[in-house]
Amino acid sequence: MNNIQKNLINLQNKIIKITNKIHRKSQDIKLIVVSKNQSINNIKKIASLGIFRFGENYIQESIQKIQNIQKKLEWHFIGKIQSNKIKYIAQLFHWCHSIENTKTALLLNNKINKNAPPLNVLIQLNVNKELTKQGITLNNLFILSKYISQLSNLKLRGIMALPIFTNNYNKQLQHHAQVYTVFAKLKKIYPSIDTLSLGTSHDMKSAIISGSTMIRIGTQIFNPKNY
Ligand SMILES: *Cc1c(COP(=O)(O)O)cnc(C)c1O
Repeated sequence: MNNIQKNLINLQNKIIKITNKIHRKSQDIKLIVVSKNQSINNIKKIASLGIFRFGENYIQESIQKIQNIQKKLEWHFIGKIQSNKIKYIAQLFHWCHSIENTKTALLLNNKINKNAPPLNVLIQLNVNKELTKQGITLNNLFILSKYISQLSNLKLRGIMALPIFTNNYNKQLQHHAQVYTVFAKLKKIYPSIDTLSLGTSHDMKSAIISGSTMIRIGTQIFNPKNY
């Protein structure tokens, strides 16, 4: 077995270890393999192990991949949204994690094909503007959620947050707890909400412990350092 596949299995074992400790089921943590900058071949290798959720950041690159891979995979757009690329997100992807404003939401909604299923969307939240730049603030989150919930081609599934720039585990926990609190509040208002996309290679453990339901992992699979 090649390295990428070994790395994936190591990662899955890590997830099982973490979830066992806190009495969560490992199946409740959905793994998005972040395949930005990765070849079609590498994606196929991972997919051959039964993984089907992939995350992409750049439209140009992802069009090639999505159109070239025959296998039915679930594609998640996790990058910054540029308005001139919105139609590709609407037509090629199954999920979009990075919605930050009503304008983008409306444009996405309007670009979805008539008979296509709704696009699953997450709002990118920023609970601390000093720690990360992208994402919307708490006040705007509730306004945007309401707006999205009224758009018929979008299905509001929850929140996404980027990691904070620190390897300090306790600081990660603090940040993730804040995100989780907001997620829990929003979930009470909208029954369609079931997803907290939180956790990357360097903060996956604190994210899972804090209640994440979806982690986005690239480095640990394709280019592992010592985590
Ligand atoms: C690249 C990226 C990831 C993956 O991060 P790794 O540290 O490589 O695991 C996750 N989320 C977003 C939004 C990304 O851009």
